Amino acid sequence: MDLFEYQGKQLLARFGVPVSPGEAVDTVDDAVAAAGRLDFPVVVKAQVQVGGRGKAGGIKLANSTDEVRQHASNILGMDIKGHVVRTVWIEKASDIAEEYYASFTLDRAAKKHLGMVSAKGGVDIEQVAEEDPAAIARVHIDPLVGIEDYHARQLVFGAKLNPTARSGAIAVLKSLYRAFVELDADLVEVNPLILRPDGSVHALDAKVSLDDNAAYRHPEFEALRNISALDPREQAARERGLNYIGLDGEVGIIGNGAGLVMSTLDVVNQAGGKAANFLDVGGGAGAKTIANALEVITGDPKVRSVLINIFGGITRCDLVAQGILDGFSTIDVHVPVVVRLDGTSAEEGRALLAANPRDGLVPAATMLEAASRAVELAAEGAGVSPGDTSGGAGKSSGTNGQGA
Ligand code: GDP
Ligand code: MN
Repeated sequence: MDLFEYQGKQLLARFGVPVSPGEAVDTVDDAVAAAGRLDFPVVVKAQVQVGGRGKAGGIKLANSTDEVRQHASNILGMDIKGHVVRTVWIEKASDIAEEYYASFTLDRAAKKHLGMVSAKGGVDIEQVAEEDPAAIARVHIDPLVGIEDYHARQLVFGAKLNPTARSGAIAVLKSLYRAFVELDADLVEVNPLILRPDGSVHALDAKVSLDDNAAYRHPEFEALRNISALDPREQAARERGLNYIGLDGEVGIIGNGAGLVMSTLDVVNQAGGKAANFLDVGGGAGAKTIANALEVITGDPKVRSVLINIFGGITRCDLVAQGILDGFSTIDVHVPVVVRLDGTSAEEGRALLAANPRDGLVPAATMLEAASRAVELAAEGAGVSPGDTSGGAGKSSGTNGQGA
């Protein structure tokens, strides 16, 4: 879960990372009131979960109430790379001597934490990595040991930070690392980390991404989630505890095991279709999970057909078949559903479906056959409209599955 700058700063501050005082507001009047409680000059900062706000005109210095009013009204409602600004953060402005970059993230390949610091801050770090990789100091940290002073010193000296900034930067890095670990973050990034004319080192921006797999350890973080940014399909799946990712195509996918679902996406692609989603019901999914999955997927207006691809291991195909039948009786399944069952209890599962035929429920013997069938049916569903008699009646025997 990505956080807004102001949420990230508020969390980092708990661990001793120095940030400026500020207030998050949603209206121009509140922005003016907040600026009155801080000291001029203030900075008006667009809160969107995308970088490069400064370049896009989403960050403005204000020296007076009039300027706050003007900037806040320009920035609220502004579209920054497809993200509409709903909130601005009003912060006491800082004087800047130098701008640096600092972050901690996971290096999965090295199985370690990775700290990065650069004296080239305030700019796109990916660009620095490309044009001048030597300008980024990198230090791996064993997660079982944690950060030691020498790690922070290696980063600060390696990046050739101004000697004035050294002790402040070392202190910030240690606080930032502690925040990274204790928040269960995937990333904490401060760009720019600034040296102020008085010699202090201070976080001017914050990008914090929390690990959703650790969400159970931090139930209070759920309130930080930006609901408006969430795909409504993903929201529905989350409420049902499903492992779902929305995609752009027209064939809804249900499978068990991430690997099988990924290859199902490929096979659908190969058959000339596009998947509407990734959905892994996991090992040992029962009837209720399958019915829930069917409900979320058929709730997506772009879906023209559904492909259920199950290879039973721990998962029993007879329970999956029962879940499909339950889904058909409890929800409005208005698109054809192609089902391929193999592995544990596949015979029983197929027999159950054969004994309970439903309009639009299409059994298939193999994964490739199932994918081709689902893609065909999706095309027919898209092509057939009332009064159109030319569209695909030929191959659709046994189904009447196209949606409204
Ligand atoms: P980003 O563009 O989304 O990364 O937003 P940042 O919060 O990093 O701000 C972009 C740039 O605006 C910074 O690199 C600074 O140069 C400038 N900036 C932000 N806050 C202040 C401030 O308090 N004082 C001054 N002088 N400049 C600021
Ligand atoms: Mn920044």
